[in-house]
Amino acid sequence: MSTATAFETVIGLEVHVELKTETKIFCGCKTTFGSPPNTNVCPVCLGHPGTLPVLNRHAVELALKAALALNCRVNQDCKFDRKNYFYPDLPKGYQISQYDKPVGEHGYLEIEVGGEVKRIGITRVHLEEDAGKSSHAADGTHTLVDYNRTGVPLIEIVSEPDIRTPEEARLYLEGIKAIMQYCEISDVRMEEGSLRCDANISLRPAGQREFGQKTELKNMNSFRNVERGLQYEVARQTEILQGGGSVSQETRRFDEATQTTVLMRTKEEAHDYRYFPEPDLVRLRIDDVWLDNLRQELPELPAARRRRFISDFGLPTYDAGVLTSDLAIANYFDAVVAAGAEPKSASNWIMGDVLAYLNNRNLSIVESPVSPQRLAGLIAEIAAETISIKQAKDVLQVMFGTGKDAKTVIREQGMEQISDASTLTPIIDEVIANNEKSVSDYLNGKEKALGALVGQTMKATKGKANPGLVNKLIIQRLRERS
Ligand SMILES: [Zn+2]
Repeated sequence: MSTATAFETVIGLEVHVELKTETKIFCGCKTTFGSPPNTNVCPVCLGHPGTLPVLNRHAVELALKAALALNCRVNQDCKFDRKNYFYPDLPKGYQISQYDKPVGEHGYLEIEVGGEVKRIGITRVHLEEDAGKSSHAADGTHTLVDYNRTGVPLIEIVSEPDIRTPEEARLYLEGIKAIMQYCEISDVRMEEGSLRCDANISLRPAGQREFGQKTELKNMNSFRNVERGLQYEVARQTEILQGGGSVSQETRRFDEATQTTVLMRTKEEAHDYRYFPEPDLVRLRIDDVWLDNLRQELPELPAARRRRFISDFGLPTYDAGVLTSDLAIANYFDAVVAAGAEPKSASNWIMGDVLAYLNNRNLSIVESPVSPQRLAGLIAEIAAETISIKQAKDVLQVMFGTGKDAKTVIREQGMEQISDASTLTPIIDEVIANNEKSVSDYLNGKEKALGALVGQTMKATKGKANPGLVNKLIIQRLRERS
């Protein structure tokens, strides 16, 4: 085989999403994140003998909403199954999950890559309970286990192997996250583990139909790390294959410190989970009325909102993508426009100064000290030419710091832009009189000399003159002279 064989990357993702319910899936324990260890537990979620699970209706509803929003076919007659395995964080010795009748199947999610819409198939969405959390001591002497997470409702979203690049994987995850957030299915906080992702990745010679040997990638705790971990795997597997070797079936984890993937375990043989129907729960029948009600409760989804921002507000695709990637940002933008701001200006301010300020302080947009109405107020002052864009940037910083509105800040700082010719003309005349060299340069065709005259005028007005008007007035004045 030649060493220059081109390979195609094949990626499939398994995403676990914790559902935003008050209580666990089979008992009344709280799902609150960050409680002291083993305080949100009861005999049911600790797997004591003789206890029985009671299904949380809200968890089912959120799982169904996810299935609908991901364009799945809903199994209206579905059931739960036991997945048997032994691990200390699983006190029952089995996990209640769904095997052959998940809530949703055969769905898809659309992503936009390089200006093209691409459909990524979704094999299934199933509902299950989360396991506890083990913390292994660094010196290997002991392991601590916290059962607060045991029984927290989860959905697992399994994609088809339709993803071809690490970038597509990130876009797919961003799409899943946005949908979960818009539909209030989960708070999707990757750092708190309410969204987790595992990836399967393999390479095959371009044009070959059958899949190559895949590796499984775990422990990627941010979208960026998913992309980097996959990039590293593509390079690693390419090198092996180019060298005539073969990739072995193994589970690897992304190592943040070295930005590489390291071997966790080789897969000796497939697990046999001995799935069987959960005898403690009846089959779950989802009637048409229930399903229709849930369908009607779905909000405007991210893709629809993106299209609306483009068609109704004329935003570039890029802007629409950034603004709709997060529900709160999309709502903020809508509110700024509703308060009268020109959409593209609103988009520029939000994507630029507003998000930069918030990101620096680790604030979400709902915590912004500047409300959408106040941002619209600032944009109105620019539109009215009271202040320049450059001044507006300073005004916005003061607004962030003080919570005051734009008008007040402009007045207090004495920043009103001088936009009337009668005030500016005498100043300009003086500048012209004192800068004979620049004047003659300009009159001799050196366009650049005009900049010096504008600069002098701005200086004379302490930056308050409307630069556009100054430009116009100077040219007019010089024409009158020549
Ligand atoms: Zn419990």
